[in-house]
Amino acid sequence: MADAETTPMKKRIAILGSTGSIGTQALEVVREQPARFAVELLTAGRNSDLLIEQALAFRPNAVVIGDTAQLARVKDALFAHGIKVYGGEEAIAQAVAMADIDMVLTAMVGYAGLRPTLAAIEAGKPIALANKETLVVAGELVTAAARAKGVNILPVDSEHSAIFQCLVGEWQNPIEKVVLTASGGPFRGRTRDQLATVTKAQALKHPNWDMGAKITIDSASLMNKGLEAIEAKWLFHLRPDQVEIVVHPQSIVHSLVQFRDGSLKAQLGLPDMKLPIQYAMAYPDRLDTSWPRFDFAQYPALTFEPPDLGTFRNLALALDALQRGGNAPCVLNAANEIAVELFLQDRIGFLEMSDLIEERLAKATFVPRPTLEDLVASDDETRRSARTWASPAWNS
Ligand code: NDP
Repeated sequence: MADAETTPMKKRIAILGSTGSIGTQALEVVREQPARFAVELLTAGRNSDLLIEQALAFRPNAVVIGDTAQLARVKDALFAHGIKVYGGEEAIAQAVAMADIDMVLTAMVGYAGLRPTLAAIEAGKPIALANKETLVVAGELVTAAARAKGVNILPVDSEHSAIFQCLVGEWQNPIEKVVLTASGGPFRGRTRDQLATVTKAQALKHPNWDMGAKITIDSASLMNKGLEAIEAKWLFHLRPDQVEIVVHPQSIVHSLVQFRDGSLKAQLGLPDMKLPIQYAMAYPDRLDTSWPRFDFAQYPALTFEPPDLGTFRNLALALDALQRGGNAPCVLNAANEIAVELFLQDRIGFLEMSDLIEERLAKATFVPRPTLEDLVASDDETRRSARTWASPAWNS
């Protein structure tokens, strides 16, 4: 039986983006591990119904709703329960510094996650990082801030969690390269002609993972793998040529590390984000789970093939931005966020997302060593011009 000396303290978690795919799965982990985790703060963008439901179930100290138009509703629902309620994006960045938070899980989508992540690092909070766009946009600044504050950034993305798990016990051994696996998404094997007419509904159907809309489109266009390559560079201090991408349609091998003796280590498991979420939250411990286990009989063959960079141009553009560095990944990310938004609104076609991103990258002013202000300006300018981007088809 565990006694007070052997039972670890409950870790009090702040979940930024609790109403999303990662956020709701993180809450499932908390529910399954009540002795290990408690919820201190929940934040949402617009989904006030779900935020209220989550707050009543998990009893955090505070919640923040990004959309201030819904603040009064959330306050009315939670006031009697003694839960503090704040509104607005600035409040998210302020709330992460609350004294009782032991770890911040960044599960907001997109560039919106950058300021709260920087604020959490500034407040000395360990980060479980799902919000990859933060490192894509400002990897150098974010990792430098974390180093200066002695803050750990633990990856939640399944590929980066796999690499991290392979590196445990190997910290002194230099990495020769990492191999990020990609499922290939719903359009693996299609030609460019076939991709020209794919619909939003088809792109939103991922074969192996159930995720938020933005990352699902990024997975269909392979942009997600490009963003992950940039994320890997910053998390593991790699040169661009040390990141290789291989398509592995079964999504069982989550990624690999090759060491200088040529040895390859991989982490495998069924595709379920709860595992990397829990690993980041509980690190360095592994906790008991009753989740389904891998069954060899179900997977007689695991296959691997190179990505088709000619067809999936978003991946080629991201790898190019990784090579260029500076503000190029920031421009890539902003152009992509708008391209995905326009595609989801049926205003541009699937292939036009690459046209838009390529044009923005070509026209943006290159800044080799951007400050935070430079990045904010690049993001702003790229979004503004991308919104007015008109495809030939759209104009006709
Ligand atoms: P979702 O779209 O499902 O959820 C996003 C969350 O962020 C929601 O809670 C949303 O609130 C909130 N949010 C969005 N915009 C804002 C804003 N401007 N201000 C405040 N809150 C905001 O995304 P996912 O959970 O799929 O992804 C989250 C992050 O994790 C992404 O960076 C993604 O790349 C990464 N990731 C996701 C994986 C997955 O399996 N889903 C796997 C690996 C990484 P609301 O809904 O209330 O508006």
